[in-house]
Amino acid sequence: MTDCLFCKMVHGEIKPRMVLETDELIAFEDINPQAPTHVLVVPRKHIATPNDIGSEDTALIGKLVLAARKIAAERQLSESGYRLVMNCNRGGGQTVFHIHLHLLGGRQMTWPPG
Ligand code: 5GP
Ligand code: ZN
Repeated sequence: MTDCLFCKMVHGEIKPRMVLETDELIAFEDINPQAPTHVLVVPRKHIATPNDIGSEDTALIGKLVLAARKIAAERQLSESGYRLVMNCNRGGGQTVFHIHLHLLGGRQMTWPPG
């Protein structure tokens, strides 16, 4: 997985602005933020797309959501609200093929997204 950007971050070869690190995931500031808070929550395990999530990964996916919720709470976003997004493949807007949860908040979100 040496050509995977997020694996390089998991392994410390590239150092993003880290927000949270656990045994199973990392969270860091998006380099091109789309909102005042734009954090990516990334499992340490390389899973290319949501299509590749296995039944053995269900607890891990739950931990991504709980980590995002914790970061949102730390930033006083729990009540005002925030958005969690996981894109799948090119048509879904995915550009980095190692799954990640976007945490977006700090401004009014609109629907539908672009
Ligand atoms: P996707 O489009 O795959 O759902 O999201 C990929 C995200 O990764 C984008 O929001 C993009 O700005 C972010 N990103 C791409 N390259 C880098 C990088 O080198 N560092 C950081 N921190 N974020 C990145
Ligand atoms: Zn990877």
